[in-house]
Amino acid sequence: MTPFWSRELWRLLGAEAGFFLFGLILRQPAWTLFMGTLAYFLFFLWRLAQFHRWFLGTRNFRPPDIPEGIWMDLYQKVYQLQKGNRRRERKLKVLLGKFQASADALPDAVVVINASDQILWFNAAAKGYLALDTTDVGRPIVNILRSPVFLDYLQSGDYGQSLVFNPFHNDDTHFSLRIIPYGGDQRLLLVQDITDLRRLERVRSDFVANVSHELKTPLTVISGFVENFLLKEDECSRRWRRPLELISQQAMRMRQIVTDLLLLAKLEASGRREESLEILDIPALLKSIRDEVLMPGLGDVAAIGLELDAHLRLKGNEAELRSAFSNLLLNAIKYTPHNGRVTVRCYVDGEGCGCVEVEDTGEGISPEHIPRLTERFYRVDVGRSRKRGGTGLGLAIVKHVLQHHDAKLDISSKPGAGSCFRCRFPPGKVALVEMGQV
Ligand code: ADP
Repeated sequence: MTPFWSRELWRLLGAEAGFFLFGLILRQPAWTLFMGTLAYFLFFLWRLAQFHRWFLGTRNFRPPDIPEGIWMDLYQKVYQLQKGNRRRERKLKVLLGKFQASADALPDAVVVINASDQILWFNAAAKGYLALDTTDVGRPIVNILRSPVFLDYLQSGDYGQSLVFNPFHNDDTHFSLRIIPYGGDQRLLLVQDITDLRRLERVRSDFVANVSHELKTPLTVISGFVENFLLKEDECSRRWRRPLELISQQAMRMRQIVTDLLLLAKLEASGRREESLEILDIPALLKSIRDEVLMPGLGDVAAIGLELDAHLRLKGNEAELRSAFSNLLLNAIKYTPHNGRVTVRCYVDGEGCGCVEVEDTGEGISPEHIPRLTERFYRVDVGRSRKRGGTGLGLAIVKHVLQHHDAKLDISSKPGAGSCFRCRFPPGKVALVEMGQV
């Protein structure tokens, strides 16, 4: 018990004893004791009402002028607490100001949204990038970023990768957006303006496309003349046959590189176009690719097996998918020795994804090379790839084509045992004839 309470109790006992004695004089001790207790109770109630009014009405919590005791102690304690709270509040305000200043200094836009996608806070860059102002706090972010691509990304809940999109539907602005969930149900939206980066990429891609295009004509002329010389049977042509054959081979290789570079540039420039996608009969497409590559002289594998789900249809661009699947099959043939086996499969996996798979029993690839295989001109063995007519661009083309179809390339391989290249298309791109979805 605090000293204030014991003093208060003693005071009450003293008062009660006084009332009792006074009651004895009046020969009404019970009555005076009751009156005294009532008076004490009413006084306490009055003090409580006074405290309540002070607590609700005061701004600075300075204690009123009352005698020392339990009530004074209460006033003092509330005053001290309030003073502490104000000190903490001031410190937090300074901290918040500093945090706000550092967030405002960020070159990228930062927006905090809640579980209902409403904007809670944003930094200065967000005002410029997304044209936000203070009246937008509380508004759903989808009312500001009205892009279907962004809506899909927001609702997907899969924020592992950034979303590159064009928020204002013009070719001038490109944003890279990333969502980072935190604190239970809040999410941080980080938006980076990559317009300049995109412009540079386009300059590079245009440059490669232009150079490739410019190289095409001289290469055709060189090949034409060399072929002509090789056809002649005179003394001069016979003497120069070997160098001429080498020139012809290298010119052909260069033409293949130029063709692949042009295809890559075209793929980069075209981006994702839903309207160019049609329902494709994948088993028929794979059969026709197999028949094309089986033409004599293209490889020496013993057999190309087909394991095809006849019902599989995919929403895709035929020319692009033909080029991607041909590249995978040609690679399997190129890197599988004589007597090896190549199998082409298509099926729907357990998660409803459409899969096209090319498996071989060839030389395989060491694990450290696998993450880099889709880079342009990346080759495990440059000499061997060149000898087999490789350009180093085949898998880069595959990657771009699959990106256009929201699909992924999974590569599994064991050196000496073979490789399996699997293209996985999301369920949204799959249609099955028997289910009548086509
Ligand atoms: P390339 O024209 O050299 O074949 P790609 O981009 O198609 O270029 O392939 C890149 C590299 O990946 C190849 O150089 C080769 O080392 C390796 N590779 C691709 N497919 C296979 C495969 N089926 N088996 C073994 N290695 C492969």
